Amino acid sequence: MGRPGRQCPRLSRLSGAARDPRAKAEEVCRRIRENYGDAIASRRLPPVDELVLTILSQNTNDINSGRAFESLKSKFPTWEDVLVAPESEVAQAIRVSGAYHVKAKRIKSTLAEIQKRVDRIDLSLLEHMPINEAKEWLSSLHGVGPKTAAIVLLFSFHRPVLPVDTHVWRISRRLGLIGDHVSREKAHSVLQDLLPPSCVFHLNHNLVRHGRSVCRSQRPRCDVCFLSDLCDYAEQMS
Ligand code: SF4
Repeated sequence: MGRPGRQCPRLSRLSGAARDPRAKAEEVCRRIRENYGDAIASRRLPPVDELVLTILSQNTNDINSGRAFESLKSKFPTWEDVLVAPESEVAQAIRVSGAYHVKAKRIKSTLAEIQKRVDRIDLSLLEHMPINEAKEWLSSLHGVGPKTAAIVLLFSFHRPVLPVDTHVWRISRRLGLIGDHVSREKAHSVLQDLLPPSCVFHLNHNLVRHGRSVCRSQRPRCDVCFLSDLCDYAEQMS
């Protein structure tokens, strides 16, 4: 990890609110990569699998959502099988993920909507669709928000779309990349416009790592943070 407070020559000439957000975003990306390395997003489930796994992961941990996903796949070998199965049987198969009745309903209605729109349960049409169009397409499915859409596009299609989880949202607000009152949903489009696409692949894991170890929700460790000289929160606290 780099020394705290190290100045970027370009940004050190700028101060507080006068900093160019794009220059700041670029410098944040550079330092995150320099300090944490190339943690490229690598999980590559097929897109419908990724979408269902993400629905299962809502309000539970990775272990439980993973178990529920395996259980679902072993009971119903294809997504067409899930679509025609009684909702109660799907719910039983994913019980370990919690809120299983709600999730079963959501999974079945999402699969049904894909089937209706594409005439099969397949999302490969998103592969070459312009990013904003692909985000809109996915987000218009019932129960699919911008974070789920971003996860599918990032992990299954390797497109540069950053899922904004609680860590990414908190750090972005503290740094001043997004405003204090920007919602987590809205943060997706703001950050999408701000971040260099090549940087998104490195930020996904690394911002979560930074949020867990340094920019914690309670008592952020600004004194050891290599972003402190760029950070609005650290400036206000000093
Ligand atoms: S300086 Fe403090 S508030 Fe800013 S990113 Fe680092 S830990 Fe978070």
